[in-house]
Amino acid sequence: MQIEAKELSKIYGAGENKVVALDRASLTIAPGDFISIMGPSGSGKSTLLHLLSGLDRPTSGHLTYDGKDIYTLSDRELSAFRRQRIGFIFQQFHLLPVLTARENIILPRLLDRKRPDEGYLQTLAQMLGIQERLTHLPHELSGGQQQRVAIARALIAGPDVVFADEPTGNLDSRSGGEVMELLKTVGKDMGKALVVITHDSRIAAMAERRLAIVDGVLSEVTAE
Ligand code: ADP
Ligand code: MG
Repeated sequence: MQIEAKELSKIYGAGENKVVALDRASLTIAPGDFISIMGPSGSGKSTLLHLLSGLDRPTSGHLTYDGKDIYTLSDRELSAFRRQRIGFIFQQFHLLPVLTARENIILPRLLDRKRPDEGYLQTLAQMLGIQERLTHLPHELSGGQQQRVAIARALIAGPDVVFADEPTGNLDSRSGGEVMELLKTVGKDMGKALVVITHDSRIAAMAERRLAIVDGVLSEVTAE
């Protein structure tokens, strides 16, 4: 799936309180791309990722998935499109505390009234090293395990692209490194495009394409 963002802007507030969180960001994401986006706190990283993934709508600009302008969809249609075609991984994992790991992973499928593919779930669990943890509640898991469950949840519907907003930000550097390696491997093996936001230059360097964002302005980092 080809994703094309054209001049996306997001402005919060008005008058003296006006904040240009994102300033005319344009970006093309091709199938299988692994892109990192680096920038300081408050530079507009989450705003950009939310717009690219249809979690939020821009003040101006366009976003197409295979030529289809997804902001023309109703909120309901957009939610369904997101659940089926887009994976999203949050810094804080966002697992539901009362559901087991397995239930958290299959939840997006249940919301779409789809039967989860048991074989695919087992494949994902094995790739992510959480087979023995599927019956546990999130609080019984380490941070790294919780994030691996969240990765499985992001992949369960077989999306074309996965967006991750500082996926290692709540992990120590060792489990953060492991989670990134897994995410990269799973993305490559399954042919997913992967867009990772980080303020860690080591993680940014794992990507094939690097972008930077400063004060809402996105730019490509050219290789030295
Ligand atoms: P980052 O993820 O890089 O830390 P964000 O995208 O969260 O940055 O925020 C970019 C800018 O937009 C910041 O100045 C932030 O304060 C502002 N911002 C983000 N969300 C809102 C909001 N809902 N209302 C007002 N300002 C916001
Ligand atoms: Mg952020």
